[in-house]
Amino acid sequence: MNIALIAHDQKKDDLIEFVIAYQPIFKEHSLYATGTTGKRVSEATGLDVHRFQSGPLGGDQQIGAMVAQNLLDLIIFFRDPLTAQPHEPDVSALLRLSDVYKVPLATNMGTAEVLLRGLSENHLDWRLGNKPGGGDGR
Ligand code: PGA
Repeated sequence: MNIALIAHDQKKDDLIEFVIAYQPIFKEHSLYATGTTGKRVSEATGLDVHRFQSGPLGGDQQIGAMVAQNLLDLIIFFRDPLTAQPHEPDVSALLRLSDVYKVPLATNMGTAEVLLRGLSENHLDWRLGNKPGGGDGR
């Protein structure tokens, strides 16, 4: 599965803690991330992470482009609900596209835990038959 990781600055420590806790699961999958999040995650865990631009510089849009090609299977996006973000339109666009393509997406740790457990118990295997050429994502 292809998994995207994004965390706003105030949530990066939480995401790193989360990836460390679920590292045995994450290491079985391909990881993608916005720039700073990816750097922090790979430094903290040694996991191989494909890094896009930093979020405010277009990283969320690059991840959105992967969603639009139905190439992402799971998104962990720890948003900061208390701080205004300069790239809020990009954040909204990514959430919208995830709904268009029915990509499971967690915006906080509680939901992320459920999704990771579901992933480890093969509950997301339906994504495997949902790749380009296999339908329009509806
Ligand atoms: P960053 O971007 O990982 O480069 O900090 C995340 C974001 O703010 O969307």
